[in-house]
Amino acid sequence: MVTISPNNKINLLGLDKKALQDFFVSIGEKPYRAEQVLKWIHFNGVTDFNLMTNISKDLRQKLTDTAEITLPQILWEKAATDGTYKFLLRLYDGNCIETVFIPEKTRGTLCISSQVGCILNCDFCSTGKQGFNRNLTTAEIISQLWIAVRKLSKLNDIHDHAVTNVVMMGMGEPLLNFDNVVPALNLMLDDHAYGLSKRRVTVSTAGVVPMMYQLREQTDVALAVSLHAPNDELRNKIVPLNKKYPLKELMAVCREYFKDDNRRSITMEYVMLAGVNDTPEHAKQLIKILNGVRAKMNLIPFNPFPHTDYKRSDTETILRFRDILMKAGLNTTIRRTRGDDIDAACGQLVGQVKDRTRRNERYLRTNQQKVIGESR
Ligand code: SAH
Repeated sequence: MVTISPNNKINLLGLDKKALQDFFVSIGEKPYRAEQVLKWIHFNGVTDFNLMTNISKDLRQKLTDTAEITLPQILWEKAATDGTYKFLLRLYDGNCIETVFIPEKTRGTLCISSQVGCILNCDFCSTGKQGFNRNLTTAEIISQLWIAVRKLSKLNDIHDHAVTNVVMMGMGEPLLNFDNVVPALNLMLDDHAYGLSKRRVTVSTAGVVPMMYQLREQTDVALAVSLHAPNDELRNKIVPLNKKYPLKELMAVCREYFKDDNRRSITMEYVMLAGVNDTPEHAKQLIKILNGVRAKMNLIPFNPFPHTDYKRSDTETILRFRDILMKAGLNTTIRRTRGDDIDAACGQLVGQVKDRTRRNERYLRTNQQKVIGESR
């Protein structure tokens, strides 16, 4: 989606190469200008047309008159004790989103949001409890990377590596904002912009099956699926989207996804909820449903948030679960929890959502009643 600001200017930040070429043609210029401008904006971080020195003065004036490069405002930024870094970004309409940078020895991963809040309402995720306001524009999605690249390079004494990987695992469901997410992915991969390799950019989905087929057609990035349960009965409860796209359909698209490239596999995310989805029986069911799917399992210890009844499985249970999967030949890792002292861990991103669904209100009301009930 192209963003036009109130002053009728188009925000070039949100245009991928193709869209930028179309833009230049529409103002009577040659399409090759797109690569020059992409490089200025994303590679060099320049937002002032007057500093784009390989562009004629006349064209710079034309750009100033018709276009702009605008970014969200950084409202707040903070480092956790483990080096995880969180940005709270304020959008033009007052909504806020969160972006998290996770430094590791050999890489730096940026966790990007795709929506303000989330419509899906997974039971164990605090973003879901915040309700939903709207989709992010392409400019708002890519601006999270633009900002992180600039900001983190100034913190080099803290972080050995700037952003080497991007995961669409922040707030929102990326495949329900498909038309704005795909151009942002194109920018991440474009050598004139960020030049990330397709294996280092990951889209994570709770399983919007028809859009998974489309994603496969349109881009070649890595895929993660938030699985979390090995049967429909349980998954309907904790990932309500399952009622629309049950496991049979989800596993069918997963089998198809990387069938042309047997070196690639899907990362299956599985949050470990004590007594809910973490028994040996659940592990055995998982092995069964993943039959024929090229998958790696990633077990995520549950991160708690206020008013939730869920608890994290204990380490012993997680290790036992992992061992059962490994014995069956499923490559399984356990995600290390990062940034939880600044609420930057998985499922703890909340931003400041002007909730249009009033879900947050209902959630708090029910849970407060529960708390009052319990204290009597
Ligand atoms: N909607 C997409 C993108 C969000 S990704 C998706 O569902 O994949 C966020 C990841 O963190 C998902 O795997 C999600 O299930 C997981 N998560 C959510 N809440 C969590 C929590 N409280 N503790 C640990 N992981 C959580």
